[in-house]
Amino acid sequence: MRILQVASELYPFVKTGGLGDVMAALPPALATAGADVRLLLPGYPALLDSLEGLTSVADTVGYPAGLRLGRVPRTGILAYLIDAPGLFDRPGNPYLGPDGRDWPDNHRRFALLGAAAAALASGRGDPRWQPDLVHAHDWHAGLVPAYVGAQGSPAASVFTIHNLAFQGLFARERFGDLGLPDSFFSIDGLEYYGQVSFMKAGLQFADRITTVSPTYAEEIQTPAWGFGLDGLLRSRRAVLSGILNGADYEIWSPESDPALPRPFDATNLSGKADAKAALQQRLGLAVEPGRLLFGAVTRLTGQKGFDLVLNALPEILGAGGQLAMLGSGDAAMEQGYRAVAERLPEQVRVTVGFDERLAHAIVGGCDMMLVPSRFEPCGLTQIYAMRYGTLPLVRRVGGLADTVVDADDAGLANGTASGVAFEDATVEALMDGIRRGFRLFAQPEVWRRLQRQAMAANFSWEAAAGRYLDLYRVALAARGQTGAIG
Ligand code: ADP
Repeated sequence: MRILQVASELYPFVKTGGLGDVMAALPPALATAGADVRLLLPGYPALLDSLEGLTSVADTVGYPAGLRLGRVPRTGILAYLIDAPGLFDRPGNPYLGPDGRDWPDNHRRFALLGAAAAALASGRGDPRWQPDLVHAHDWHAGLVPAYVGAQGSPAASVFTIHNLAFQGLFARERFGDLGLPDSFFSIDGLEYYGQVSFMKAGLQFADRITTVSPTYAEEIQTPAWGFGLDGLLRSRRAVLSGILNGADYEIWSPESDPALPRPFDATNLSGKADAKAALQQRLGLAVEPGRLLFGAVTRLTGQKGFDLVLNALPEILGAGGQLAMLGSGDAAMEQGYRAVAERLPEQVRVTVGFDERLAHAIVGGCDMMLVPSRFEPCGLTQIYAMRYGTLPLVRRVGGLADTVVDADDAGLANGTASGVAFEDATVEALMDGIRRGFRLFAQPEVWRRLQRQAMAANFSWEAAAGRYLDLYRVALAARGQTGAIG
Protein backbone atom coordinates (compact mmCIF):
# COMPACT_ATOMS: atom_id res chain seq x y z
CA MET A 1 0.00 0.00 0.00
CA ARG A 2 1.53 3.30 -1.11
CA ILE A 3 0.44 6.14 1.16
CA LEU A 4 1.21 9.84 0.88
CA GLN A 5 0.94 11.81 4.15
CA VAL A 6 0.39 15.54 3.55
CA ALA A 7 0.87 18.15 6.27
CA SER A 8 2.53 21.43 7.07
CA GLU A 9 4.60 20.50 10.17
CA LEU A 10 7.29 17.96 11.03
CA TYR A 11 9.02 17.69 14.41
CA PRO A 12 11.78 18.70 15.15
CA PHE A 13 12.16 21.01 12.14
CA VAL A 14 8.83 22.83 11.91
CA LYS A 15 6.44 22.50 14.83
CA THR A 16 3.82 24.73 16.44
CA GLY A 17 1.96 21.95 18.29
CA GLY A 18 0.88 18.34 18.31
CA LEU A 19 0.55 18.14 14.50
CA GLY A 20 4.35 18.27 14.14
CA ASP A 21 4.76 15.39 16.60
CA VAL A 22 2.16 13.27 14.81
CA MET A 23 3.78 13.78 11.41
CA ALA A 24 7.14 12.67 12.79
CA ALA A 25 5.81 9.51 14.43
CA LEU A 26 2.89 8.17 12.37
CA PRO A 27 4.78 7.60 9.08
CA PRO A 28 7.55 5.44 10.61
CA ALA A 29 4.93 3.45 12.54
CA LEU A 30 3.06 2.81 9.27
CA ALA A 31 6.33 1.84 7.57
CA THR A 32 7.13 -0.62 10.36
CA ALA A 33 3.70 -2.16 9.78
CA GLY A 34 4.64 -2.75 6.14
CA ALA A 35 3.25 0.26 4.29
CA ASP A 36 5.20 2.19 1.64
CA VAL A 37 4.74 5.67 3.12
CA ARG A 38 6.03 9.06 2.04
CA LEU A 39 5.47 12.61 3.23
CA LEU A 40 4.62 15.78 1.32
CA LEU A 41 5.49 19.05 3.05
CA PRO A 42 6.05 22.71 2.20
CA GLY A 43 9.70 23.43 1.41
CA TYR A 44 10.40 25.48 4.53
CA PRO A 45 14.10 26.37 4.80
CA ALA A 46 14.36 24.28 8.02
CA LEU A 47 13.33 21.22 5.97
CA LEU A 48 15.33 22.01 2.83
CA ASP A 49 18.39 22.37 5.08
CA SER A 50 17.79 19.15 7.05
CA LEU A 51 16.51 16.46 4.72
CA GLU A 52 19.20 14.09 3.49
CA GLY A 53 20.08 13.41 -0.15
CA LEU A 54 17.61 15.87 -1.69
CA THR A 55 17.05 15.43 -5.42
CA SER A 56 14.70 17.10 -7.87
CA VAL A 57 11.81 14.94 -9.07
CA ALA A 58 9.64 17.46 -10.90
CA ASP A 59 10.08 20.98 -12.20
CA THR A 60 6.56 22.17 -11.66
CA VAL A 61 3.54 20.85 -9.86
CA GLY A 62 0.85 23.08 -11.30
CA TYR A 63 2.31 26.39 -10.11
CA PRO A 64 5.86 27.69 -10.49
CA ALA A 65 7.08 25.26 -7.89
CA GLY A 66 9.28 22.18 -8.03
CA LEU A 67 9.20 18.94 -6.07
CA ARG A 68 12.24 17.60 -4.29
CA LEU A 69 12.66 14.26 -2.54
CA GLY A 70 14.88 13.47 0.43
CA ARG A 71 15.05 11.46 3.63
CA VAL A 72 13.99 12.60 7.08
CA PRO A 73 16.96 12.21 9.46
CA ARG A 74 16.53 9.63 12.27
CA THR A 75 13.45 7.93 10.81
CA GLY A 76 14.68 7.63 7.19
CA ILE A 77 11.17 8.30 5.83
CA LEU A 78 11.15 9.71 2.29
CA ALA A 79 9.63 13.16 2.03
CA TYR A 80 8.68 15.38 -0.92
CA LEU A 81 9.22 19.09 -0.39
CA ILE A 82 7.48 21.75 -2.46
CA ASP A 83 10.29 24.01 -3.56
CA ALA A 84 8.70 27.45 -3.89
CA PRO A 85 11.18 29.82 -2.25
CA GLY A 86 9.05 32.95 -2.51
CA LEU A 87 6.25 31.23 -0.64
CA PHE A 88 7.91 29.25 2.12
CA ASP A 89 11.26 30.97 2.68
CA ARG A 90 9.99 33.39 5.30
CA PRO A 91 10.99 34.19 8.87
CA GLY A 92 9.21 32.89 11.94
CA ASN A 93 6.07 30.85 12.24
CA PRO A 94 4.81 28.80 9.25
CA TYR A 95 1.46 30.56 9.27
CA LEU A 96 2.07 34.06 10.66
CA GLY A 97 4.27 36.97 9.70
CA PRO A 98 6.51 38.76 12.21
CA ASP A 99 3.54 41.07 12.97
CA GLY A 100 1.60 38.06 14.31
CA ARG A 101 -0.94 38.16 11.47
CA ASP A 102 -1.67 35.46 8.89
CA TRP A 103 0.42 35.76 5.73
CA PRO A 104 -1.95 37.37 3.21
CA ASP A 105 -1.21 34.69 0.59
CA ASN A 106 -1.76 31.67 2.88
CA HIS A 107 -4.43 30.37 0.50
CA ARG A 108 -1.85 30.12 -2.31
CA ARG A 109 0.84 28.71 -0.05
CA PHE A 110 -1.27 25.86 1.28
CA ALA A 111 -3.22 25.27 -1.94
CA LEU A 112 0.15 24.10 -3.26
CA LEU A 113 -0.02 21.12 -0.89
CA GLY A 114 -3.23 20.11 -2.66
CA ALA A 115 -1.90 20.72 -6.16
CA ALA A 116 1.30 18.79 -5.49
CA ALA A 117 -0.54 15.90 -3.81
CA ALA A 118 -2.87 15.66 -6.81
CA ALA A 119 0.10 15.69 -9.20
CA LEU A 120 1.66 12.79 -7.30
CA ALA A 121 -1.66 10.94 -7.05
CA SER A 122 -2.19 11.14 -10.81
CA GLY A 123 1.36 10.04 -11.68
CA ARG A 124 2.56 13.47 -12.85
CA GLY A 125 4.59 14.39 -9.78
CA ASP A 126 7.05 11.52 -9.65
CA PRO A 127 7.15 9.00 -12.51
CA ARG A 128 8.59 6.42 -10.11
CA TRP A 129 6.06 6.60 -7.29
CA GLN A 130 2.32 7.09 -7.23
CA PRO A 131 0.27 6.75 -4.03
CA ASP A 132 -2.80 4.50 -3.73
CA LEU A 133 -4.06 6.75 -0.97
CA VAL A 134 -3.43 10.31 0.20
CA HIS A 135 -3.86 11.19 3.86
CA ALA A 136 -4.19 14.93 4.47
CA HIS A 137 -3.92 16.60 7.87
CA ASP A 138 -5.71 19.74 9.12
CA TRP A 139 -6.89 22.75 7.14
CA HIS A 140 -3.47 23.40 5.57
CA ALA A 141 -3.93 20.20 3.59
CA GLY A 142 -7.72 20.51 3.34
CA LEU A 143 -7.65 21.12 -0.41
CA VAL A 144 -5.83 17.83 -1.03
CA PRO A 145 -9.03 15.75 -1.42
CA ALA A 146 -10.53 18.56 -3.56
CA TYR A 147 -7.64 18.66 -6.05
CA VAL A 148 -7.34 14.86 -6.08
CA GLY A 149 -11.07 14.68 -6.88
CA ALA A 150 -10.95 17.49 -9.44
CA GLN A 151 -8.17 15.76 -11.35
CA GLY A 152 -9.99 12.43 -11.40
CA SER A 153 -7.10 10.64 -9.72
CA PRO A 154 -7.81 7.03 -8.74
CA ALA A 155 -6.25 7.55 -5.30
CA ALA A 156 -8.43 7.25 -2.20
CA SER A 157 -8.31 10.09 0.32
CA VAL A 158 -8.42 10.40 4.11
CA PHE A 159 -8.64 13.72 5.94
CA THR A 160 -7.73 14.08 9.62
CA ILE A 161 -8.94 16.94 11.82
CA HIS A 162 -6.33 17.83 14.43
CA ASN A 163 -8.20 20.93 15.53
CA LEU A 164 -11.56 22.02 14.12
CA ALA A 165 -11.16 25.54 15.53
CA PHE A 166 -8.63 26.47 12.83
CA GLN A 167 -10.44 26.24 9.50
CA GLY A 168 -8.45 28.12 6.88
CA LEU A 169 -11.12 30.64 5.85
CA PHE A 170 -10.45 33.02 2.95
CA ALA A 171 -12.39 35.70 1.07
CA ARG A 172 -14.45 34.52 -1.89
CA GLU A 173 -12.23 36.52 -4.27
CA ARG A 174 -9.36 34.13 -3.48
CA PHE A 175 -11.18 31.19 -5.02
CA GLY A 176 -10.04 32.19 -8.52
CA ASP A 177 -6.40 31.79 -7.42
CA LEU A 178 -6.91 28.11 -6.61
CA GLY A 179 -7.49 26.77 -10.12
CA LEU A 180 -10.38 24.54 -9.05
CA PRO A 181 -13.56 24.11 -11.14
CA ASP A 182 -16.18 26.82 -10.46
CA SER A 183 -18.64 24.16 -9.37
CA PHE A 184 -16.47 23.51 -6.28
CA PHE A 185 -17.48 26.89 -4.86
CA SER A 186 -20.90 25.73 -3.69
CA ILE A 187 -22.64 24.63 -0.54
CA ASP A 188 -21.77 21.04 -1.46
CA GLY A 189 -18.17 22.09 -1.97
CA LEU A 190 -15.81 24.37 -0.12
CA GLU A 191 -18.07 27.40 0.16
CA TYR A 192 -18.76 28.38 3.77
CA TYR A 193 -21.09 31.34 4.34
CA GLY A 194 -19.69 33.08 1.27
CA GLN A 195 -16.06 32.31 2.09
CA VAL A 196 -13.60 29.66 0.96
CA SER A 197 -13.02 27.05 3.69
CA PHE A 198 -10.06 24.71 3.37
CA MET A 199 -11.30 22.68 6.33
CA LYS A 200 -14.70 22.21 4.74
CA ALA A 201 -13.05 21.08 1.51
CA GLY A 202 -11.32 18.29 3.43
CA LEU A 203 -14.54 17.25 5.16
CA GLN A 204 -16.57 17.39 1.97
CA PHE A 205 -14.30 15.66 -0.53
CA ALA A 206 -12.36 13.06 1.48
CA ASP A 207 -13.45 9.41 1.29
CA ARG A 208 -12.95 9.00 5.04
CA ILE A 209 -12.62 11.55 7.85
CA THR A 210 -10.85 10.96 11.13
CA THR A 211 -10.04 12.96 14.17
CA VAL A 212 -7.47 12.31 16.84
CA SER A 213 -9.61 10.81 19.59
CA PRO A 214 -12.91 8.90 19.71
CA THR A 215 -14.55 11.35 22.14
CA TYR A 216 -13.65 14.39 19.99
CA ALA A 217 -15.17 12.58 16.98
CA GLU A 218 -18.49 12.62 18.86
CA GLU A 219 -18.14 16.15 20.28
CA ILE A 220 -17.58 17.80 16.90
CA GLN A 221 -20.96 16.52 15.74
CA THR A 222 -22.66 18.82 18.27
CA PRO A 223 -23.35 22.55 17.80
CA ALA A 224 -21.29 23.31 20.92
CA TRP A 225 -18.04 21.97 19.46
CA GLY A 226 -18.70 21.70 15.74
CA PHE A 227 -17.50 25.28 15.03
CA GLY A 228 -20.27 25.66 12.45
CA LEU A 229 -19.41 22.38 10.71
CA ASP A 230 -21.35 19.99 12.97
CA GLY A 231 -24.18 19.64 10.45
CA LEU A 232 -21.78 18.57 7.72
CA LEU A 233 -19.99 16.24 10.14
CA ARG A 234 -23.29 14.65 11.18
CA SER A 235 -24.18 14.12 7.54
CA ARG A 236 -20.84 12.34 7.08
CA ARG A 237 -20.88 10.41 10.33
CA ALA A 238 -20.85 7.06 8.48
CA VAL A 239 -17.29 7.81 7.31
CA LEU A 240 -16.11 9.70 10.43
CA SER A 241 -14.14 8.02 13.22
CA GLY A 242 -11.65 8.83 15.97
CA ILE A 243 -8.19 7.29 16.20
CA LEU A 244 -6.25 8.22 19.31
CA ASN A 245 -2.76 9.64 18.77
CA GLY A 246 0.19 7.77 20.16
CA ALA A 247 3.33 9.05 21.85
CA ASP A 248 6.81 8.67 20.45
CA TYR A 249 8.51 7.00 23.40
CA GLU A 250 11.89 7.33 21.71
CA ILE A 251 11.55 11.08 22.26
CA TRP A 252 9.44 11.09 25.42
CA SER A 253 10.83 8.57 27.91
CA PRO A 254 12.42 9.13 31.34
CA GLU A 255 14.74 6.21 30.60
CA SER A 256 16.57 8.08 27.84
CA ASP A 257 15.67 11.77 27.99
CA PRO A 258 18.78 13.99 27.73
CA ALA A 259 16.86 16.87 29.33
CA LEU A 260 16.81 15.00 32.69
CA PRO A 261 19.73 14.92 35.14
CA ARG A 262 19.61 11.11 35.18
CA PRO A 263 17.30 8.41 33.85
CA PHE A 264 14.51 6.81 35.88
CA ASP A 265 11.71 4.31 35.44
CA ALA A 266 8.72 2.98 37.34
CA THR A 267 10.83 0.58 39.42
CA ASN A 268 13.09 3.34 40.73
CA LEU A 269 11.70 6.84 40.99
CA SER A 270 14.68 8.42 42.77
CA GLY A 271 15.74 10.00 39.47
CA LYS A 272 12.33 11.70 39.36
CA ALA A 273 13.15 13.51 42.63
CA ASP A 274 16.42 14.68 41.06
CA ALA A 275 14.57 15.91 37.98
CA LYS A 276 12.23 17.91 40.21
CA ALA A 277 15.06 19.44 42.24
CA ALA A 278 16.99 20.31 39.08
CA LEU A 279 13.94 22.00 37.60
CA GLN A 280 13.21 23.98 40.77
CA GLN A 281 16.84 25.07 40.86
CA ARG A 282 16.96 26.02 37.19
CA LEU A 283 13.78 28.08 37.42
CA GLY A 284 14.72 29.82 40.66
CA LEU A 285 11.88 28.17 42.59
CA ALA A 286 12.33 27.10 46.23
CA VAL A 287 14.12 23.74 46.04
CA GLU A 288 11.87 21.75 48.36
CA PRO A 289 10.72 18.21 47.59
CA GLY A 290 7.57 18.51 49.70
CA ARG A 291 6.01 21.26 47.59
CA LEU A 292 3.55 20.08 44.96
CA LEU A 293 5.02 21.36 41.69
CA PHE A 294 2.52 21.88 38.87
CA GLY A 295 3.72 22.15 35.28
CA ALA A 296 2.25 23.57 32.08
CA VAL A 297 3.60 23.41 28.52
CA THR A 298 1.01 24.99 26.32
CA ARG A 299 -0.34 27.49 23.89
CA LEU A 300 -1.91 30.22 26.02
CA THR A 301 -5.33 30.41 24.41
CA GLY A 302 -8.93 30.19 25.55
CA GLN A 303 -9.00 26.59 24.26
CA LYS A 304 -6.39 25.46 26.74
CA GLY A 305 -8.21 26.92 29.80
CA PHE A 306 -5.25 28.81 31.23
CA ASP A 307 -7.46 31.79 32.06
CA LEU A 308 -9.11 29.40 34.54
CA VAL A 309 -5.70 28.47 35.95
CA LEU A 310 -4.81 32.13 36.45
CA ASN A 311 -7.96 32.57 38.52
CA ALA A 312 -7.40 29.31 40.40
CA LEU A 313 -3.77 30.12 41.25
CA PRO A 314 -4.58 31.18 44.85
CA GLU A 315 -5.61 27.57 45.51
CA ILE A 316 -2.13 26.36 44.44
CA LEU A 317 -0.19 29.16 46.09
CA GLY A 318 -2.16 29.16 49.36
CA ALA A 319 -1.37 25.47 49.84
CA GLY A 320 2.35 26.09 49.25
CA GLY A 321 2.38 24.67 45.73
CA GLN A 322 4.49 25.84 42.81
CA LEU A 323 3.95 26.40 39.10
CA ALA A 324 6.47 25.98 36.26
CA MET A 325 4.92 27.30 33.09
CA LEU A 326 6.17 27.37 29.51
CA GLY A 327 3.92 28.87 26.89
CA SER A 328 2.95 31.75 24.71
CA GLY A 329 -0.13 33.18 23.07
CA ASP A 330 -2.71 35.54 24.50
CA ALA A 331 -0.88 38.72 25.57
CA ALA A 332 -3.15 39.40 28.56
CA MET A 333 -2.60 35.87 29.88
CA GLU A 334 1.16 36.12 29.40
CA GLN A 335 1.11 39.38 31.34
CA GLY A 336 -1.12 37.96 34.07
CA TYR A 337 1.26 35.05 34.73
CA ARG A 338 4.33 37.27 34.55
CA ALA A 339 2.87 39.56 37.21
CA VAL A 340 2.31 36.64 39.62
CA ALA A 341 5.79 35.26 38.92
CA GLU A 342 7.38 38.62 39.72
CA ARG A 343 5.52 38.79 43.01
CA LEU A 344 6.21 35.18 44.06
CA PRO A 345 9.44 34.02 42.39
CA GLU A 346 9.90 31.08 44.77
CA GLN A 347 6.53 29.67 43.76
CA VAL A 348 5.86 30.66 40.16
CA ARG A 349 8.13 30.81 37.13
CA VAL A 350 6.81 31.61 33.69
CA THR A 351 8.84 31.24 30.52
CA VAL A 352 7.20 32.86 27.52
CA GLY A 353 8.29 31.23 24.27
CA PHE A 354 8.72 27.85 22.59
CA ASP A 355 11.51 25.71 24.01
CA GLU A 356 11.61 21.98 23.29
CA ARG A 357 14.26 21.14 25.89
CA LEU A 358 12.62 23.09 28.70
CA ALA A 359 9.34 21.38 27.75
CA HIS A 360 10.99 18.02 28.47
CA ALA A 361 12.46 19.26 31.77
CA ILE A 362 9.03 20.48 32.91
CA VAL A 363 7.17 17.36 31.78
CA GLY A 364 9.79 15.20 33.52
CA GLY A 365 10.38 17.25 36.69
CA CYS A 366 6.91 18.28 37.83
CA ASP A 367 4.51 16.37 40.06
CA MET A 368 1.34 17.28 38.14
CA MET A 369 0.74 18.55 34.61
CA LEU A 370 -2.10 21.02 34.07
CA VAL A 371 -4.29 20.42 30.99
CA PRO A 372 -7.63 22.07 31.83
CA SER A 373 -8.78 22.49 28.20
CA ARG A 374 -12.24 23.69 27.22
CA PHE A 375 -11.96 21.38 24.21
CA GLU A 376 -9.08 19.07 23.32
CA PRO A 377 -8.93 17.01 20.10
CA CYS A 378 -6.38 14.62 21.64
CA GLY A 379 -3.75 16.43 23.70
CA LEU A 380 -0.24 15.07 23.89
CA THR A 381 1.27 16.71 26.98
CA GLN A 382 -0.87 14.62 29.35
CA ILE A 383 0.20 11.46 27.51
CA TYR A 384 3.88 12.43 27.70
CA ALA A 385 3.54 13.46 31.36
CA MET A 386 2.11 10.08 32.38
CA ARG A 387 5.20 8.29 31.08
CA TYR A 388 7.33 10.40 33.46
CA GLY A 389 5.12 9.73 36.50
CA THR A 390 3.84 13.31 36.29
CA LEU A 391 0.13 13.00 37.03
CA PRO A 392 -2.12 14.95 34.67
CA LEU A 393 -4.80 17.26 36.06
CA VAL A 394 -7.23 17.49 33.16
CA ARG A 395 -10.73 18.48 32.25
CA ARG A 396 -12.73 15.41 31.20
CA VAL A 397 -13.19 16.34 27.54
CA GLY A 398 -12.07 15.10 24.10
CA GLY A 399 -8.83 13.14 24.08
CA LEU A 400 -8.22 14.00 27.73
CA ALA A 401 -11.28 11.91 28.63
CA ASP A 402 -9.93 9.08 26.47
CA THR A 403 -6.45 9.00 28.02
CA VAL A 404 -6.64 9.91 31.73
CA VAL A 405 -8.45 7.76 34.30
CA ASP A 406 -9.58 9.79 37.30
CA ALA A 407 -8.34 8.88 40.77
CA ASP A 408 -11.87 8.63 42.15
CA ASP A 409 -12.86 5.80 44.49
CA ALA A 410 -13.41 3.37 41.60
CA GLY A 411 -10.19 4.29 39.81
CA LEU A 412 -8.19 3.94 43.02
CA ALA A 413 -9.84 0.65 43.95
CA ASN A 414 -9.45 -1.08 40.57
CA GLY A 415 -5.90 0.08 39.92
CA THR A 416 -6.58 2.01 36.70
CA ALA A 417 -6.36 5.63 37.95
CA SER A 418 -3.66 7.73 36.27
CA GLY A 419 -4.49 11.35 37.14
CA VAL A 420 -7.20 13.75 38.23
CA ALA A 421 -10.07 14.67 35.90
CA PHE A 422 -12.72 17.32 36.59
CA GLU A 423 -15.95 17.99 34.70
CA ASP A 424 -16.81 21.65 34.28
CA ALA A 425 -14.83 24.45 32.64
CA THR A 426 -15.12 26.61 35.75
CA VAL A 427 -12.63 28.01 38.24
CA GLU A 428 -14.49 26.20 41.06
CA ALA A 429 -14.24 22.80 39.35
CA LEU A 430 -10.55 23.36 38.62
CA MET A 431 -9.93 24.44 42.23
CA ASP A 432 -11.66 21.30 43.41
CA GLY A 433 -9.36 19.24 41.16
CA ILE A 434 -6.34 21.07 42.57
CA ARG A 435 -7.47 20.31 46.12
CA ARG A 436 -7.84 16.64 45.22
CA GLY A 437 -4.34 16.74 43.79
CA PHE A 438 -2.96 18.09 47.09
CA ARG A 439 -4.82 15.42 49.10
CA LEU A 440 -3.38 12.62 46.95
CA PHE A 441 0.12 14.12 47.10
CA ALA A 442 -0.12 14.13 50.90
CA GLN A 443 -0.41 10.31 50.82
CA PRO A 444 2.97 9.17 49.47
CA GLU A 445 2.01 5.52 49.05
CA VAL A 446 -1.12 6.33 47.07
CA TRP A 447 0.84 8.87 45.01
CA ARG A 448 3.56 6.34 44.12
CA ARG A 449 0.91 3.83 43.08
CA LEU A 450 -0.75 6.42 40.84
CA GLN A 451 2.63 7.30 39.34
CA ARG A 452 3.33 3.66 38.51
CA GLN A 453 -0.11 3.22 36.98
CA ALA A 454 0.32 6.35 34.87
CA MET A 455 3.78 5.22 33.74
CA ALA A 456 2.41 1.83 32.72
CA ALA A 457 -0.25 3.35 30.42
CA ASN A 458 0.87 2.73 26.86
CA PHE A 459 -0.23 4.97 23.99
CA SER A 460 1.94 3.46 21.32
CA TRP A 461 1.99 4.56 17.70
CA GLU A 462 2.03 0.90 16.78
CA ALA A 463 -1.60 0.54 17.88
CA ALA A 464 -2.62 3.79 16.16
CA ALA A 465 -0.86 2.80 12.92
CA GLY A 466 -2.75 -0.51 12.90
CA ARG A 467 -6.04 1.38 13.14
CA TYR A 468 -5.08 3.76 10.32
CA LEU A 469 -4.09 0.81 8.12
CA ASP A 470 -7.47 -0.83 8.73
CA LEU A 471 -9.14 2.44 7.74
CA TYR A 472 -6.98 2.80 4.61
CA ARG A 473 -8.02 -0.73 3.55
CA VAL A 474 -11.68 0.19 3.96
CA ALA A 475 -11.19 3.39 1.93
CA LEU A 476 -9.37 1.51 -0.83
CA ALA A 477 -11.93 -1.30 -0.90
CA ALA A 478 -14.69 1.30 -1.33
CA ARG A 479 -12.82 2.46 -4.45
CA GLY A 480 -12.40 -1.09 -5.69
CA GLN A 481 -8.67 -1.17 -4.97
CA THR A 482 -6.78 -3.49 -2.67
CA GLY A 483 -3.50 -1.62 -2.14
CA ALA A 484 -1.76 -4.74 -0.84
CA ILE A 485 0.80 -4.03 1.86
CA GLY A 486 4.32 -3.85 0.54
P1 ADP B 1 -1.80 21.55 20.54
O1 ADP B 1 -1.32 20.86 19.31
O2 ADP B 1 -3.25 21.84 20.58
O3 ADP B 1 -1.00 22.78 20.87
P2 ADP B 1 -0.99 19.09 21.93
O4 ADP B 1 -1.05 18.74 23.38
O5 ADP B 1 -1.62 18.16 20.97
O6 ADP B 1 -1.57 20.57 21.81
O7 ADP B 1 0.53 19.24 21.46
C1 ADP B 1 1.35 20.22 21.98
C2 ADP B 1 2.78 19.88 21.60
O8 ADP B 1 3.51 21.09 21.52
C3 ADP B 1 3.49 19.03 22.63
O9 ADP B 1 4.55 18.32 22.01
C4 ADP B 1 4.04 20.10 23.58
O10 ADP B 1 5.15 19.62 24.32
C5 ADP B 1 4.46 21.16 22.59
N1 ADP B 1 4.46 22.53 23.10
C6 ADP B 1 3.39 23.34 23.33
N2 ADP B 1 3.79 24.55 23.75
C7 ADP B 1 5.15 24.52 23.79
C8 ADP B 1 6.16 25.46 24.15
N3 ADP B 1 5.85 26.69 24.55
N4 ADP B 1 7.46 25.08 24.05
C9 ADP B 1 7.78 23.81 23.65
N5 ADP B 1 6.87 22.88 23.30
C10 ADP B 1 5.57 23.23 23.37
